[in-house]
Amino acid sequence: MIYDVIVVGGGASGMMAAITAKKQKKSVLLLERMDKLGKKILATGNGRCNLTNDCMEETSYRGNQPGFSEYVLKKFSQEELLSFFQSLGMLTTQINGYYYPASLQAFTVVETLIETMKHLKIEMEIGVEVSKIEHLVDFYEMKNKDGKTYKSRQVILSTGGKAQEKLGSNGSGYVLAKQLGHHMTDIYPGLVALESPDTYFKNLHGVRQVCNIKVFVNGKEEVSQRGEVQFTKYGISGIPVFQISRYAISALRKKKKVVIELNLMPDMLTLEETMEQMKKMCEYKTIEQFLNGCMNCKLSKCILQRCKIKPTVQVSSMSQSNWQSMLDMIKHFQVAVSNYKGFDMAQVTVGGVDTREVIQETLESKYHKGLFFTGELLDVDGTCGGYNLQWAFSSGYIAAMNLK
Ligand SMILES: Cc1cc2nc3c(=O)[nH]c(=O)nc-3n(C[C@H](O)[C@H](O)[C@H](O)COP(=O)(O)OP(=O)(O)OC[C@H]3O[C@@H](n4cnc5c(N)ncnc54)[C@H](O)[C@@H]3O)c2cc1C
Repeated sequence: MIYDVIVVGGGASGMMAAITAKKQKKSVLLLERMDKLGKKILATGNGRCNLTNDCMEETSYRGNQPGFSEYVLKKFSQEELLSFFQSLGMLTTQINGYYYPASLQAFTVVETLIETMKHLKIEMEIGVEVSKIEHLVDFYEMKNKDGKTYKSRQVILSTGGKAQEKLGSNGSGYVLAKQLGHHMTDIYPGLVALESPDTYFKNLHGVRQVCNIKVFVNGKEEVSQRGEVQFTKYGISGIPVFQISRYAISALRKKKKVVIELNLMPDMLTLEETMEQMKKMCEYKTIEQFLNGCMNCKLSKCILQRCKIKPTVQVSSMSQSNWQSMLDMIKHFQVAVSNYKGFDMAQVTVGGVDTREVIQETLESKYHKGLFFTGELLDVDGTCGGYNLQWAFSSGYIAAMNLK
């Protein structure tokens, strides 16, 4: 049997591609290496699946070819995605601009997609990892590890990247793309925590603090974010750290010096004046007791240690220079960054199939007619907030709509 199209990978983009292709009256086979479809979707948005976002900006997507994703995202936008799910009987809800299934259960998204595939009678084989692909004269031939052969006139590679292999994506898509002569850009973990050699982190584990974050590369400010930073034994994590991790990691990979500066009290615009007034009213306290009234006690201890201020010193008897260095530390808490967590902890893969080798409007290979790429396999990564799933669904839809 030679199918019109074989979709390799049953994640977000692959299921969307298979459904769209079948609706275009194509004969479709979907091959998935895991024992179930959509395992990664189940883990998204803390089990709630944040599938898109109200706010789409140029800066929401990154890659070596800026703007590559724009055409596809305009052709199949948030509105189209939300109507698509509604047409399959799944309602969505919006919380502060972030969209989720109305059930607030990622399971609903997976079930909706799988039920639709069953309803459309899409053929699927589960537990099949494609390890070899060849473009013969009239068709593509794929093989799994046991040598079983699959044939189709067109192929949509929807294998994802390398983030979190336990959820399915193990980097095998890169091998398949390379077998067909495609090239990969630099591939590394994205939306991931950062590690610091600073020893004080072991005492900060568990602290959460809303901060302004600035990333300095070789002393120059590159990017900033605001949000709740999570302090861990090894460094910093949390959504604002994930958002800036790409810039820090890219610089580290080029052997540049990365320092992150945290403003630990970003909402207090008049920090100096307010602290001065409070100091006058609380002269009877030790400086540690005073700081404990302003922030997590583990952080106040750390600040005093880093400023070499005795925690038992009375507020009234603090030197002006110690007072000022403490305020400076609160506003400019510097963290040296030496490393980052790996693919097993990353939410996304940075890099992938070089988009210069792919037609922007159709996602078809420039080298092979009938070969398409979708989702995270391509060198497109979004920020946190539903952008990666929107890209996965949009790209799956567009690839399938351009099948012959
Ligand atoms: C913990 C976590 C939370 C996340 N939360 C969000 C969120 O809330 N919002 C958001 O937008 N994004 C989120 N993401 C990112 C988002 O899930 C992915 O970007 C998106 O799922 C990528 O879709 P995809 O179809 O490209 O790949 P995947 O969803 O990874 O699917 C690829 C599929 O292909 C299969 N496969 C791989 N190789 C082969 C092969 N050789 N043969 C057969 N099958 C193969 C895999 O088993 C997998 O099922 C999160 C990611 C993680 C890890």
